[in-house]
Amino acid sequence: MAKSKVTAADFARLYDGFNAAVSRFDCGRKCAPLNGGEPVCCSTQNAVPVVHTVEFDLLKSRTDLWTRFKPYDYATRQIVDELTSDCTAIQCSGARHCERDNRTIACRGFPFYPYITREREFVGLGTYWVFEDRCWMMSNLDLVDVAYIEEFYATYEKLFALDASEHRTYVDFSAAARRVFSRWKREIPVLGRDGRLRIVTPSTGELRLGKRSDYPKASPFRNEREYRAAVAEAGGELPKAGLKAA
Ligand code: SF4
Ligand code: SF4
Repeated sequence: MAKSKVTAADFARLYDGFNAAVSRFDCGRKCAPLNGGEPVCCSTQNAVPVVHTVEFDLLKSRTDLWTRFKPYDYATRQIVDELTSDCTAIQCSGARHCERDNRTIACRGFPFYPYITREREFVGLGTYWVFEDRCWMMSNLDLVDVAYIEEFYATYEKLFALDASEHRTYVDFSAAARRVFSRWKREIPVLGRDGRLRIVTPSTGELRLGKRSDYPKASPFRNEREYRAAVAEAGGELPKAGLKAA
């Protein structure tokens, strides 16, 4: 297999073009009360960030925020053991120390992945469905900014051009999404380049334009009452009114 030619300098350029916030709402304030006060996507208890080793090289040259990830149980040891030689698992110092300019591509992209059709066309932003019960943003896709979607697209198009293995990864991941949703008898929500919702029929791969009622709502984000009950059960504190991003 051809070795990836992507470099640390390439990642620096990708970072420069991918700074938009997901939404004008600070979604971390909505999910953190359900996760011990820390945004769900910033905790290695929920997800271990795996990056290109050259991306880690870039980060190490810019900041002390990131270090090599230390596995803490059997599952995380397996993640590290199964990494290919050009990937590294890393961890940051936590949300309180976050440096906006030194977030990985994965941080900037969460909770989305590039959804790729059977015909291998990159047509939208799919969501990492395993987080739907913890990620508020995934139940509020109508609040995702179009500027963010444009930057996400541009970044992944450039990354795919630099590194064909990245494209293959998401071809496979999108196929896995179709299998999972097909088994669940659910449709796949995807945000198109124009910001409008598309719905994929997983068994055929067909795409249609979504309606208002197609926007996904997962528990405990289906309504305010359910959310408040979940926060109380988690022992968290409700966010103050108004969720504008800083
Ligand atoms: S993207 Fe989802 S998990 Fe991450 S901070 Fe926002 S609501 Fe929380
Ligand atoms: S760098 Fe920032 S956004 Fe990324 S995981 Fe750490 S705290 Fe979260």
